Amino acid sequence: MLEETIGKEKILSSQAELYSYGFDASIHHAMPSVVVQPRSEEDIVEVVKIAHEHAIPIIARGAGTALSGQAVPIKGGIILDMAAMNKIKEIKIENFYCKVEPGVIYGELNKELAKYGFFFPPSPGSGDVCTIGGMIATNASGMRAIKYGATRDYVLGLRAVFPPGKAYALGSSTLKNSSGYQIERLLVGSEGTLGIITEATIKIIPLPEKRGVALASFDTLHDAGKGVANIIAAGIIPSALEIMDKVCIQAVNKSMNIGLPEVEAILIIEKDGKEEEIKKDIERIAEICRKSNAKDVVFTFDEEEMANLWKGRKGVLPSLSRYGGNKISVSLADDMAVPISKIPDAVKAFQEISKKYGILIGTYGHAGDGNLHTKILIDPTSEEEWKKAEKVVDEIYKVVYELGGIVSGEHGIGISKAPWMVKENIELMERIKAALDPKNIMNPGKMMQWKGSIITNLRYR
Ligand SMILES: Cc1cc2nc3c(=O)[nH]c(=O)nc-3n(C[C@H](O)[C@H](O)[C@H](O)COP(=O)(O)OP(=O)(O)OC[C@H]3O[C@@H](n4cnc5c(N)ncnc54)[C@H](O)[C@@H]3O)c2cc1C
Repeated sequence: MLEETIGKEKILSSQAELYSYGFDASIHHAMPSVVVQPRSEEDIVEVVKIAHEHAIPIIARGAGTALSGQAVPIKGGIILDMAAMNKIKEIKIENFYCKVEPGVIYGELNKELAKYGFFFPPSPGSGDVCTIGGMIATNASGMRAIKYGATRDYVLGLRAVFPPGKAYALGSSTLKNSSGYQIERLLVGSEGTLGIITEATIKIIPLPEKRGVALASFDTLHDAGKGVANIIAAGIIPSALEIMDKVCIQAVNKSMNIGLPEVEAILIIEKDGKEEEIKKDIERIAEICRKSNAKDVVFTFDEEEMANLWKGRKGVLPSLSRYGGNKISVSLADDMAVPISKIPDAVKAFQEISKKYGILIGTYGHAGDGNLHTKILIDPTSEEEWKKAEKVVDEIYKVVYELGGIVSGEHGIGISKAPWMVKENIELMERIKAALDPKNIMNPGKMMQWKGSIITNLRYR
């Protein structure tokens, strides 16, 4: 039926193709029944109608870089590969917005916008490959969220298809809108469980003139945390404020030979804006770090040196995977958010959990907005280590909640974080889901619907 309605050329069904569409960047894998590559909103309307009529799961897929299993078809069904819907439809500088199809790659959009001196700021680490649709559906963000916020702060309007197969225009193209429910925002972070985004109107802003970066090294995590709090308290809003613990520093040095100082913790602090302003602010930041017991502070405005520092920070994830011999870094408990002042407590508690279970945990992340990344290193062929990892995750989230934090600040829930979602949210989310998707076809089994262990459908043999 799909072939007749959508066209044979838009359908993939060989075993090899289905196998490769069973992955995202998480620990999970499951085979879909078929892959559809829509070219238009009309195609999607038809697919949703068929899926609704026959109660078949339907899973939207951007670039498949989700880290918690959001794009894995855990209940089988139809994968909607949005990659071919990749047109930048409009760039309206005078109105501060652009209109794009959901398959547009984040980095490609920013290359286009840069020609006008503008950008769309969220900057996830996967920005060179991830799609705007995937970013909206997971509310992605990155190192610059401290100053510029997350994807949700830039979604002005959306077009989306909901069961039983109808397209709606949500929100607007205006910067302000108080005209009823902000339904476009409901799709932000919905992970494909409500509707399929077919077009997005995104707010854009001018690129900063210049950047400067300081690197401060500390002998204790506590002092690094104090440094963060003191910078924020001084009223300086950096464009990035990153922390790396010793495990991460050593992993990067070992695999990338960057020569980061091998201390307990480093802060990498970036300030952007007008040249005169940032020079003053970076010097003030350096001074604040010294007063917070930084052992050493260096700073630079040189593009190449800054790029090198950021290369080290961005290299944490691949470096950790190479760090521990047969141990690899698995995406579990990987992006919790805690109040900024609680960062040292969180990192210290994670180190204690690491010792208790004899499992290596590297911690780094966006200290300036309270969003931490932990990477758990295990031997993926050892059942015992997976069991331990699940206990580690549980203990990590207990600490996160005790400190007033939340499970995911960036990557979303999918399967791997589902059991630790806030209970009150779950009840209301289920009511919204039932109202918009009564046959539960939209990415079923995810978020509040995942019950049981997260060590499931593993991609590793
Ligand atoms: C190396 C690496 C670094 C990363 N760094 C970051 C980071 O810094 N910050 C961050 O936030 N995330 C990060 N991520 C996670 C991930 O890249 C982001 O969440 C990204 O936005 C997902 O985009 P995608 O196109 O790959 O979506 P996918 O993985 O394909 O899908 C993600 C979710 O969005 C849904 N979806 C996709 N398209 C649509 C659509 N059109 N309509 C409705 N639902 C849709 C899918 O069903 C799924 O639930 C990283 C991942 C990797 C592998």
